[in-house]
Amino acid sequence: MADTVLAVEAVAKAFAAHKVLTDVRFRVGAGEIVGLLGPNGSGKSTLLNVVSGFSRPDAGEILFRNESVAGMPAHRIARHGLVRTFQLPSMPHRMSVRQVLHAGSREGAGLFDAFTPRRGDHSQVDVLLEQFALTAVADQSASSLSGGQKKLLSIALALRTKPKLLCLDEPTAGVHPQLRSRMVELLRAFNGRGVAMLVVEHDMHFIRELCSRCIVLDRGEIIADCAPDELAKNERVVEAYLGKSVERQKVLA
Ligand code: ADP
Ligand code: MG
Repeated sequence: MADTVLAVEAVAKAFAAHKVLTDVRFRVGAGEIVGLLGPNGSGKSTLLNVVSGFSRPDAGEILFRNESVAGMPAHRIARHGLVRTFQLPSMPHRMSVRQVLHAGSREGAGLFDAFTPRRGDHSQVDVLLEQFALTAVADQSASSLSGGQKKLLSIALALRTKPKLLCLDEPTAGVHPQLRSRMVELLRAFNGRGVAMLVVEHDMHFIRELCSRCIVLDRGEIIADCAPDELAKNERVVEAYLGKSVERQKVLA
């Protein structure tokens, strides 16, 4: 593999007696896009939380660009270049989409500074609004956006920080098919500029378009690490999705 940007080694996480992640280990290469799959409740979001500092692992090591980030707070990990989006992004009521993007451009800036943009911020924000199909709603309250638009805005915000690794939690769930194609194009373009990605996603079409490799979690354990086209032939993957007809149809189709 090319240079490793993320190395997860023997990570475990439990909530009381419920073991949610067990001995999870995998790597993401610099500039790679890796899919993270698994049935509902298999631990995907928990794994992103642990990797991005929103939750502490109980055991194991997480190396980001060769530095240990296990247990480090999320804002510090983000400053190192690892950012993530959420399954259900929430946005502030009192800020417009444009103001949210301005605020996101000022590392360490207070909320009020967001209303007095620096020179140069305008054009960058305008380019992002255009790229992410948000120009028409730029002056609306960020909280009034549709679920799909909030996802686009949260990805734009994450990419504004120029990350080395972007972790996305179900980026296309609830997103209109047209915006979904736009998202694929944008993620490819940013990947071309060197942003590696770890993407939790159920949409196999999306996964095939973006990922050369997939990791599959089942009950907190990694059961496969293979190319998307090999998933349907993988017995453990087939078994993990048995009885979960809707998800199975998507992943094994
Ligand atoms: P996925 O994203 O794959 O659907 P999650 O990581 O959200 O799965 O959840 C995995 C398991 O961990 C689920 O059984 C869930 O109920 C449990 N879980 C997640 N977060 C918490 C928490 N904060 N407290 C207790 N249980 C949790
Ligand atoms: Mg989840």
